[in-house]
Amino acid sequence: MINQGVINRLIEIVGERYVLYVPEDLLVYEYDGSQAMGYPEVVVVPSSTEEISQVVKIARRENIPIVPRGAGTSISGGAIAASGGILMAMTRLKRVLEVDPDNMIAVVEPGLVNIDLTRAVSRYGLFYAPDPSSQKACTMGGNVAENAGGPHCLSYGVTVNHVLGLEVVLSDGEVMWVGGKVKDTPGYDLTGVIVGSEGTFVIVTKIIVRLMRQPRAVKTFVAIYDDIVDASDTVSAIIGQGIVPAALEMMDNIVIRAVEPVIHAGYPLDADAVLLVEVEGMAESVEEEARAIEVICKENKATDVRVATDPQAREKLWAGRKNAFGALGSIAPNYYIVDGVVPRSKLPGVMKRVAEICRRYEVSVANVLHAGDGNLHPIILFNERDEGMKEKVLEAGGEIMRVCIDAGGALTGEHGIGIEKQMYMPWSFTEEDMDAMRRLRGAFSSAGFFNPGKIFPDEAVDGKAWELPRLVAKGSGMYV
Ligand SMILES: Cc1cc2nc3c(=O)[nH]c(=O)nc-3n(C[C@H](O)[C@H](O)[C@H](O)COP(=O)(O)OP(=O)(O)OC[C@H]3O[C@@H](n4cnc5c(N)ncnc54)[C@H](O)[C@@H]3O)c2cc1C
Repeated sequence: MINQGVINRLIEIVGERYVLYVPEDLLVYEYDGSQAMGYPEVVVVPSSTEEISQVVKIARRENIPIVPRGAGTSISGGAIAASGGILMAMTRLKRVLEVDPDNMIAVVEPGLVNIDLTRAVSRYGLFYAPDPSSQKACTMGGNVAENAGGPHCLSYGVTVNHVLGLEVVLSDGEVMWVGGKVKDTPGYDLTGVIVGSEGTFVIVTKIIVRLMRQPRAVKTFVAIYDDIVDASDTVSAIIGQGIVPAALEMMDNIVIRAVEPVIHAGYPLDADAVLLVEVEGMAESVEEEARAIEVICKENKATDVRVATDPQAREKLWAGRKNAFGALGSIAPNYYIVDGVVPRSKLPGVMKRVAEICRRYEVSVANVLHAGDGNLHPIILFNERDEGMKEKVLEAGGEIMRVCIDAGGALTGEHGIGIEKQMYMPWSFTEEDMDAMRRLRGAFSSAGFFNPGKIFPDEAVDGKAWELPRLVAKGSGMYV
């Protein structure tokens, strides 16, 4: 329980307006984009590294946990205050501090919304490559913590490939820089270690990022299929031939039917699946690559390939993909987005298993995939008011995750472990593996201080946020 003396001290640091502790104000922060919920005791909204440092020092002295939070779009429960304590919202720290077009780098604050960085640098012919579908809302700090990916990360790489350095506040309140403005810095790659640490190591307060030059030519097209398995086969065939498009995304019929009435992206309503393909580069190579991909699509039974003929049409095709999750809200009151990754060649088989599992659980499933990366997002549609439904859906999601692991895949393609996947960690990692991870965290912060109750199964806050009773009861690795 945080006492009034501590609250007064926090108010002295960040100002009265930026310390929230009345229950009605806290309600807004009990959710993120996942199925989990947790209630912070106090929300602090700092405006500088110095303020963050002071808040951390107080929290450390008083033994109060801190959960850093960006926009709260985490789908794994990462931004939930699972053990109460202080939730530190980074939303006031949203400046682009420096743009160096010659060296193609920028320095930004962690609360900057992803897309605002590309907007800020586009006048120099530059852009920031990692583009999560949530990029109109999610923040750079959240992207760093989750090592976010996005449709164009197929060719550009994920967040860790674009972060050069970080200013961070350590668990004793000290401020430290890791990495720097040049590509290689001597010593351990602490930047790489912190990226993807899900808010459990440090609080990120400044980010140095690489920028990319906008491509000379871009071609975007959509390939249409009567059978989603043919679309999956196409993905394997394209990559198998050594072609890596800038983006290669897949959507199934349920997603198409949800998206079209709202976005009018131009996806045919009767298609079983569409592949959204983007090719970038010099004009000649783009044409050549696009032609080769078109041939592969047709060889794999695409019924049609429709090319965006102008920037507006291209934008529409992308708007369909980037608003897919939101559009699904129009056909179901709730949905659970599963995030798994498998070797690309296993996609067709895994997609069949996903469909079987959902049939057995009698739940509808929509599929959006960063297909080129083998990253699938089965989205299980449900109504949480139906008794027992949420549990059923979580269990179906657990089975899908197990199928991904058994196919040689991983627990998450991009959304992180958080609360959602912590019970599954033993499916991928031995006790020794997890112990090594804990020791690494220990070099930065003690358990229970930054973002507690996440990642490790034995640190889950009992039954508070996430319950997978039957699956967990069967024990690690025993579920078949
Ligand atoms: C519709 C939708 C589409 C999505 N599409 C994608 C996608 O294509 N690719 C993808 O990767 N993800 C996607 N996501 C998931 C989510 O948007 C990403 O994980 C994103 O990086 C989270 O950013 P955020 O600012 O919302 O962070 P939050 O949700 O607020 O926090 C996420 C994690 O980051 C930590 N954190 C936040 N700020 C800091 C900081 N300054 N220092 C230390 N830790 C911090 C938090 O503690 C938490 O663990 C999607 C989510 C939604 C709702």
